[in-house]
Amino acid sequence: MIPFRFEKARTEQDAILAARAGGRYIAGGTTLIDLMREEVERPERLVDINALPLDYIRVDGDTLVIGALARMSDVAAHRETARLQPLIAEALVEGASPQLRNVASIGGNLLQRVRCPYFRMLDAPCNKRDPGTGCAAIGGLHAGHAILGTSDHCIATHPSDLAVALVALDAVLRVQGPEGERTFPVEELFRLPGDTPHLEHTLRPSELILEVRVPAGPYARHARYLKVRDRSSYEFALVSVAAALDVDGGRIRAAHVAAGGVGTRPWRMRACEAALVGRSPDRGAFASAAERALDGARPLSGNHYKAELLPRTMVRALEMAGGVA
Ligand code: SF4
Repeated sequence: MIPFRFEKARTEQDAILAARAGGRYIAGGTTLIDLMREEVERPERLVDINALPLDYIRVDGDTLVIGALARMSDVAAHRETARLQPLIAEALVEGASPQLRNVASIGGNLLQRVRCPYFRMLDAPCNKRDPGTGCAAIGGLHAGHAILGTSDHCIATHPSDLAVALVALDAVLRVQGPEGERTFPVEELFRLPGDTPHLEHTLRPSELILEVRVPAGPYARHARYLKVRDRSSYEFALVSVAAALDVDGGRIRAAHVAAGGVGTRPWRMRACEAALVGRSPDRGAFASAAERALDGARPLSGNHYKAELLPRTMVRALEMAGGVA
């Protein structure tokens, strides 16, 4: 591992000042330390933010508020998560092994790097790691890669299960930077790769995630997360779907649907949602809505199976959310 400087921040302002001087934030470190060992990441200065008072889980009105340093396991097990947003608990439990959940923070989970194997192979071309070198996955092994939001420069999926649930639930991020605080939808945190895949998120320089706010809605307690993967634990999604339905008088009043494992960022399925509104919550409605899931998809030879797996997974997740299954 390449030598680096390590310091602890006691306040948010200290952390931001250190980041302005070139420091990288570290909390659980479950992605960053791995990548530093492999010399994919080479920060010269790490700023440990674990002492900041951002590990809370609380309720504000009917909004679930999760501090950026709350651990995945604590959020998943918290009674207010189960009461207000069970979809989040389900996505967190599906998202990592117990050991990782005990250490990984919520903010870090959202900012974790891609799992494309070429990203970690220093001798392989990778536009995300080394801009302008090419993309080894497009002509190589890409069974686990994205079919939505891809570009000719990168096809890596965003790996977070939690992010898929938060995007479906219209969660909002509160962040702080040198110029003060701002809030914006979690969905807007993630960038499409375009021709700059090394730029992954929309945080401004030195900005620190403070908390995630998840608004309540009549759909929130009728929501499920379904993850399809090669093995039942410690594995990333081939396809996942977060589905939440508001059903009133036998008709779907509102639908919230997002998918993981298929997009270069957590993928909100708005065309599918629109197709569900006004329909009765049955398999026929779910199947016709799922046909819209592939709008804009660009599967390649190695991941074409996802074009079949995504609609099927969506139908099943909607059945679970609607209590049809
Ligand atoms: Fe790199 Fe993205 Fe291509 Fe993977 S898919 S090799 S991360 S550019």
